[in-house]
Amino acid sequence: MSSLPADSPTATRPAARPAAAAPGMAGGPPAAAPPAQAIALAGLGKTYGGAAKPALDNVDLVIPRGSLYGLLGPNGAGKSTLINILAGLVLKTAGKAAIWGIDIDAAPRQARAAIGIVPQELNIDPFFTPHEMLDMHAGFYGVPKRERKTDEILAAVGLSDKAHSYARTLSGGMRRRLLVAKALVHSPPVLVLDEPTAGVDVELRRQLWSHVRALNAAGTTILLTTHYLEEAEELCDHIAIIDRGKVVVAERTEDLLRRLDDKTLTVTLAERLAALPEGLKGFHLEIAAANRLVFRYRPSRTRLADLFAALQGAGLTIVDLATEEADLQDIFLQLTGSAAAGGAGR
Ligand code: ADP
Ligand code: MG
Repeated sequence: MSSLPADSPTATRPAARPAAAAPGMAGGPPAAAPPAQAIALAGLGKTYGGAAKPALDNVDLVIPRGSLYGLLGPNGAGKSTLINILAGLVLKTAGKAAIWGIDIDAAPRQARAAIGIVPQELNIDPFFTPHEMLDMHAGFYGVPKRERKTDEILAAVGLSDKAHSYARTLSGGMRRRLLVAKALVHSPPVLVLDEPTAGVDVELRRQLWSHVRALNAAGTTILLTTHYLEEAEELCDHIAIIDRGKVVVAERTEDLLRRLDDKTLTVTLAERLAALPEGLKGFHLEIAAANRLVFRYRPSRTRLADLFAALQGAGLTIVDLATEEADLQDIFLQLTGSAAAGGAGR
């Protein structure tokens, strides 16, 4: 099992794991109330040996319990580094990290028992069936036979009918889902997916999204990384944007999108204007050139028809119209100044 952390919690998983844990609750500290913060990072840093610049630089980030959190950033931003620190595959060089309220330095195995990781690379042994693979993986995590939920998990990821087929016969999308299943065998309250849909076709992406949504709805906190703006926008309730090792914004998706409610309309007129006609003074208009007006507005609150009527009422003739709108891409570029993200996901 090459994907297991080097210090996999084989023999030392928390002893007081409740026998009949509710989904999304098992694996945490014994009988404690669930923490408000599924993951908490403070001043997290990583400089790889020999590297001039840190891959992660003073990252503060909180993933609230129950959220579906997107970590968005261009290639090389540091997303996998962050995930791999949580997985115990990369050693941080600065700061603190807690998973489900458990410090990864103080209690690494317990912390790791609270998290399931779906790695970026697809690594699946082709000679086992999904059922065998999950059972074996549960064994690695020390989940007793009677507590294993192999069939339930296979059903949850839509692989029941492939339970006893060799993994090599699974399609790419099924393999992805099998990796998700594998990350779920020890019922972690937190599931982390590193670029789950990179290089995956549109239909499959939708399928994976719906599985992820269902897991989240059932109570699992989800952290996923992506370089697709569209994915973060559609799927996640929170988005953090990371660039060159730094978190540049971390907000509820709706707050981030509210910044998008900002459009510019440029109206070119047949007439030349020295000043704004009286009837147009109620609008936030600027004279950009003698025959050109610039109107900034919020599409959710403004009726363009009113402006057009006012222009007509002032005896003006519209020759041309041009609109510009901010999208997540603009915000991303504005915040990161990174051309590397250009075109991602669009
Ligand atoms: P992302 O997952 O966002 O694409 P990564 O975390 O993989 O970004 O990489 C962040 C930075 O760290 C990149 O500059 C990358 O080259 C570097 N990096 C990643 N893994 C290693 C490693 N094992 N050794 C040295 N540098 C690495
Ligand atoms: Mg990566």
